Amino acid sequence: MPKEKPELSDAMRAKMSRKTPVKNPIIGTKFTIAISSAKGGVGKSTFATNLALALKQIGCKVGLLDADIYGPSIPKMFGINEKPKSDGQKLEPIVKYDIQCMSIGFLTDQQTPMIWRGPMVTSAIKTFTQKVNWKDLDFIIVDMPPGTGDTQLTFSQDIKMDGAIIVSTPQEVALLDVKRGIKMFDKLGVKILGLIDNMSYFTGDDGKKYKIFGEGGVKKTADEFKKEFLGEIPINPEIGKTGDNGKPIVESNPNHEISKIYLEFANKIKSTYL
Ligand code: ADP
Repeated sequence: MPKEKPELSDAMRAKMSRKTPVKNPIIGTKFTIAISSAKGGVGKSTFATNLALALKQIGCKVGLLDADIYGPSIPKMFGINEKPKSDGQKLEPIVKYDIQCMSIGFLTDQQTPMIWRGPMVTSAIKTFTQKVNWKDLDFIIVDMPPGTGDTQLTFSQDIKMDGAIIVSTPQEVALLDVKRGIKMFDKLGVKILGLIDNMSYFTGDDGKKYKIFGEGGVKKTADEFKKEFLGEIPINPEIGKTGDNGKPIVESNPNHEISKIYLEFANKIKSTYL
């Protein structure tokens, strides 16, 4: 009698039929780090730009990729009004403050809304990762769009990502989204380097710390999901002002107490990878 083949469980069959996605590293960089936030307006782009500048300040070669197709911030925060050159094959990144930058905002009018469907966004992300002449970089810092959509999926599945940092404010409503963000990266196999508590408090003229958006929520979330809590950045009007002026605080005032916080984060990342 012929031997019967053992039955495969459904889970096993699903596992075997799943193709291992081919991951394309971004050519021209050693490491790709995503700065993510589940919600908009929590300070993700501010963090990405200042972290990139802090890494540069400690001797790393850095690129900054604005992957927020619907709401690019890098042109404004870095004060860039040029269009990138192209040789017909590849785009040249625009170099500002010694950082190689690319953003959809360099290619469109600042006030033009990007009314694109998902596949076009995916295609733009592929162009920015595969068809830009990134050169000799240690790190590319990717400013992700908020949420858990096409861009996150494309980066996680098709592009080699070395780590993600999640930025949040301590508000409950932001933290709910953070939990979704953590689960997404875990599910997609992207290493989460840790969580940042941005706008964690404001120091008044009386020297007291005011926890405007609540207290301890980001750290608690990090603990709950066994992720590292990287630290807090207070509310400081100088951060907003310098970003709006196109020269973020780490570049315009490297000795500011806030710049020193970014430098600590940069040192930590440098020592993790290099
Ligand atoms: P996101 O990228 O998450 O949408 P942004 O980086 O654009 O958020 O920040 C939203 C606004 O908050 C900007 O005006 C920025 O200057 C300001 N901001 C961010 N972090 C801080 C902070 N720690 N203190 C004061 N203002 C901040």
